Amino acid sequence: MLQFQVIILDWYNKNKRNLPWRDTNNPYFIWLSEIILQQTRVDQGLPYFEKFANHYPSVFELANADEQNILNDWQGLGYYSRARNLHKTAKELVNSYNGEFPSTYTELLKLTGIGPYTAAAIASFAFNEAKAVVDGNVYRVLSRVFDIEEAIDSTQGKKNFELLANELIDKKNPASYNQAIMEFGALQCVPVNPDCSVCPLQFQCLAYKNKTITERPVKSKKTKVTSRYFVYLIELSVDKTIRIEKREGKGIWQNLYQFPLVEFDSIEEKSTFLERLKSQFISKEYKHILSHQQLFAHFAIVEPSKKTAVNQLEIAVTELSNFPIPRLIDKFWEEHFKFVEGL
Ligand code: SF4
Repeated sequence: MLQFQVIILDWYNKNKRNLPWRDTNNPYFIWLSEIILQQTRVDQGLPYFEKFANHYPSVFELANADEQNILNDWQGLGYYSRARNLHKTAKELVNSYNGEFPSTYTELLKLTGIGPYTAAAIASFAFNEAKAVVDGNVYRVLSRVFDIEEAIDSTQGKKNFELLANELIDKKNPASYNQAIMEFGALQCVPVNPDCSVCPLQFQCLAYKNKTITERPVKSKKTKVTSRYFVYLIELSVDKTIRIEKREGKGIWQNLYQFPLVEFDSIEEKSTFLERLKSQFISKEYKHILSHQQLFAHFAIVEPSKKTAVNQLEIAVTELSNFPIPRLIDKFWEEHFKFVEGL
């Protein structure tokens, strides 16, 4: 065994967290945990994993579930396309694979919604295939230990990191090795200020030796962030009904519900609109950050309109919690109007 493998596995045995998806080789639960944990911290994802494992104990329950219930259960996790893809892939598994996960990396990759990372995780954790999982943690550990200058988000960089990761994998024990290196990145070789003084890889670590830790990993692209300006109109009637609408088409929060929305191209246009709006209440500005967008939202109470568009519904305020809504709206509602539901 390579010394790198020995150190990583030894560290893992002493430091690993007990997480429910580590005690199973059921590919369904492994897949569920991997999708939930993409872009999500473990402590935040854990209750969602438990909820999903409970509500949908097998791929059949998930495939047969109503999308609205799945989105409701996903509420608060963000990146809702993950929940929709989860549902889509579950249906594909049931319809074309009798609900059985394929057992190899190559076959898993053929499923829509399963990319190289997830396929490697399922193939190694569930079927013990020697396929390296390369997530953000692994990129960071490898780029530091081997002091690699190549950008992790370039096409060639991705290929080279994957090659290196596959050379380093413990072929006899790929599942534990993959878990170990990811956990090492998550707990020991953390993005900011890793405590190298207690690191068992310190003597091998070239970035430590070359004092380049803060420069690793290298990324070539800067994500362009766009700003969007929203005003949500709250049409609350004396009968305690409220109008909501379903977000359709592509873009953020597809199929989630919201209050009728007016969007502006600039902050100036939005300010003019708010100045002229006949409203009894205009909220403070809510800033909501997504991966490529920052949203600046106000909420305003307005007279209920008489027209209902095709994607709109008028519901009792008590029913609002039955609909999947974005965290931004949920936050506003909790701060200002949750009490209305109980009146
Ligand atoms: S010595 Fe520091 S930078 Fe290098 S692997 Fe250990 S924690 Fe990471």
